[in-house]
This record gives sequence, C-alpha cells and structure tokens, in this order.
Amino acid sequence: MLDAALDEMQAVPAGPVWRAVPPEVKSALTDEPVPWQGRPLADVFAEYRALIEPYTVGNRHPRFFGWVHGQGTPSGMLAQMLTASLNINAGGREHAGAYVERAVVAWWARVFGFPEGSSGIVTSGTSMATLLAVLVARTQTLGVEVRGRGLGDARLAGYAAVSAHHCLHKAFDAAGLGHAAIRRIPVDGDGRMRVDALQQALAHDRERGIRPFFLYATAGSVNTGAVDDLARLADLAAQEALWFHIDGAFGALAMLAPARRGLLQGLERADSLALDFHKWLHVPYGSGLMLTRHASVHRATFADEVHYLARLREGTAGGDPWFCDFGLELSRGFGALGVWFAMREFGLERLGEAIEHDCLMAEALGTRLERIPEIRLAAPVRLNIVCARYAAPGLSAEELDERNAAIVVELQTTGVAVPSTTRIGGNLVMRFNFTNHRVRPNDLEITAAAIEAAIGRFREGPGGTSV
Ligand SMILES: *Cc1c(COP(=O)(O)O)cnc(C)c1O
Repeated sequence: MLDAALDEMQAVPAGPVWRAVPPEVKSALTDEPVPWQGRPLADVFAEYRALIEPYTVGNRHPRFFGWVHGQGTPSGMLAQMLTASLNINAGGREHAGAYVERAVVAWWARVFGFPEGSSGIVTSGTSMATLLAVLVARTQTLGVEVRGRGLGDARLAGYAAVSAHHCLHKAFDAAGLGHAAIRRIPVDGDGRMRVDALQQALAHDRERGIRPFFLYATAGSVNTGAVDDLARLADLAAQEALWFHIDGAFGALAMLAPARRGLLQGLERADSLALDFHKWLHVPYGSGLMLTRHASVHRATFADEVHYLARLREGTAGGDPWFCDFGLELSRGFGALGVWFAMREFGLERLGEAIEHDCLMAEALGTRLERIPEIRLAAPVRLNIVCARYAAPGLSAEELDERNAAIVVELQTTGVAVPSTTRIGGNLVMRFNFTNHRVRPNDLEITAAAIEAAIGRFREGPGGTSV
C-alpha cells in the first residue's frame, strides 16, 4: 500500500487534474449493504484503488487553482502514517507528543512576533481555530462566569469586512452570539476593510447600547488575497478595547517570504490569530492553529475539573496543563506531529521560498491573462490570487457570468486545470489561487491556452460575438 501510494502520487501530474465520479462508482460506494463480515485487506485495498483513488478533488496536481487548497507532500503522508502508528490521544497526559505540540505553538508564536508565554493549540483548521478564538474573546469580555451563566442579556457585536470568511458566521452562531451580531464593513478598491466605515459602525452600536467586543481582520482574503491594514486596525482595537483577531488562514504564512512580510505589519499585535497548515504549508488535511497572547484566559475558557481527568504529580497523568484545557475536544489526534515534520524537514526558509514562488506565479498568470483581449483582471494581484473575467463587449452581465462559469467548467471537466469561481462587485469571475508548490510556468501557459481556446469557440459558436 505504501509503494502504491507513492507511485500514484508520483503519477498525479501526468493525469487529468480532476475527473468526474462515474455514476456506477457512486452507486458502488453508496449502495453497499452494511459490511457485517470482513474481507482480506488486499480486497479492500483493490476496492479503494478502483473506486476512490482515481476520483479525488485534484489538489495534488500542479494545475489545481481552485478555492484555497494545499497540495500535501510525500513526507507529509509518511508523517501521517507515523501519527497513526503511535495513535497518541493528544488530549492530555504525559507523553512526548504534548511537548511536540508545545514546541510547534511556541515556534509559531515566535515567527509571528507574539510574546513569550503565548498560548495556542493545533486544530483541524481555521474554522475551528476561529471558534476557539471567539470563545476566548467572549470569556475575556464577559468573565469566566459566562461559561455557566450563558450570554444572558449581554449585547455584543463583532466587526469584519464584507469579504471576510464565513467561518466567523459559524463561530458566532456556535458561541451563542448569533451571526446577526456581526457588522459587515465595506472594503476599499484594494479589498481592505474601510477604517472610516468601521469607526462609524462602532459609534452607531455604542449609541444604541451595544457593546463592540470583537474585531476580525483578514490577512489574505479568500476572494482576492487582500490584507487589511493590520497596524491601523490594531491601533483602533486598542483605543476601543476590542479583541483583535486575525484570520490568517493562508495569508499569515506570507510571513515566511521576506518580500511579502511588510504586508503583515501589525499582525504581531493580534489578541488571537487563526491559520492553516493544510493550505500554504502543505501539511495534509486537516491542520491549523489557534494562537493567543492571553494564555490564562485561553485556559480559563476551556479547562474543567473532573475526577476522571485529575492530574497527578508524577506518572502518566502528569504533564499539566493538558491540551484538552485549551480547546473543545478531549480525545484528539496528534496533529502537531505533521507540522513538526514539515517544519523540521523543509525549514521555514524553504517553505517561504515556495510561498514566494506562488506569489510570482500568480503575478505571471495575471500578466498572461491580461494579454487576452476579452479578459480583465477583476482585482489587483496582491498576493497569490488572480480573479479574471471574460468581458467581451455586446453581452449582458448575466451572459458574461454564464460564459465565465462555462470556461471554468470546461477547464475542470476536460481535466486541464481546476480554477474556481467567485463574485467580485456582483460579477462572476474565474478565480486562480496559488497555494501550490508544484506549479511551473508551463502550467500557466497550458491553462491560459485552454482559456483562449474556449474563448475562440465562443467567437465561432452560435450566438457568439465577433471581436
Ligand atoms: C480556508 C479559509 C478559512 C477556513 O479555514 P478552514 O481550514 O477551511 O476551516 C478561513 N479564512 C480564509 C481566508 C480561508 O482561506
């Protein structure tokens, strides 16, 4: 199985980026009866190879540009194997895994300029890290009694750009705050939260007796890679006594690329930071981090005293505090090992070079697409994301939306490349994200040529416009 997996991984670039799951494969997977009787492992593996392995999302391929997906690495797979082999329950107790996770948290705290003694936990991703951060901020604002009493009649509000990721919605829902308590702040032409509009929203809420408590800044927005003015937002958060949270899901890792680091000025002042290792660090899914400078509030938000989890001075039940004191899960996987392997094997400098490479590839694709007469960039390429729109004259906005979607679908279904779509200023655009250490200039050319070919068929096809 190990040999086969390595061979298969090696063959990925030569195959299609994505292929449709055939109906008979879907039914072979979903119509099976409950497997009361076991089978030889070799048979199960054969089934895996036939039904599962060929029909993946495609994010290991050099021409996968959709959403924000990491690629993984062969050694990342091996680290996952070792993680499973040890089968550590990393929720607590005295074992080397806890010290690995502490080292990982402390290393990243240092990389991001957080103070010594900052606290954090490896999570399944940014969504979970965001929920944890909102809960810690809630404790900081209302006191630890909120855990027992609930929110009561507290009227709290949070603030985020209109373009902020919806994981904040889920976090506010789950924390009992309700996502109606999030004020959506407009952005400027560069996709950055407008500070004047934020100030107005804060004043408006204070006048109505609502307590502003949470400012959600974005370092690398999911649509365009925009980075909010973190230093200015940090100032404002300090003045207004707001918890300053940064969504750095992928963008925070631009800290590893010296040429991009300047964009992140002010990040070191965050009260909490959420980010992913499974995107721009290429650790296999799911792997993220929540970091906060408020270690004692972090622990007070999640720690409980129960007899069956009592800590002892020595022995297996030593090692206080346990990571279950810093998050929602008790039993939890040893996700820190994959991060530790990636950091130690590649080193942060080389991981930063891969990030820089992606930013340069994004710039190059932007330049290449702009040379196609009917294509316009829908947003400036500031980091690692290109949003472009096919905008031939003489067609309505809806017709153009349909054609942009049609180009994306054609690239996907022919297996040439996988971009995704989003909307910028109401218009549907093609979106190319680079968290892809395998992409090379030739992959950009193949993708651009396929787009040109699709546009050529619009020109010829029925109802096409001649340019
Ligand atoms: C991916 C992403 C998230 C959510 O992270 P998950 O790891 O998918 O939970 C949040 N914010 C941004 C900017 C993202 O790109």
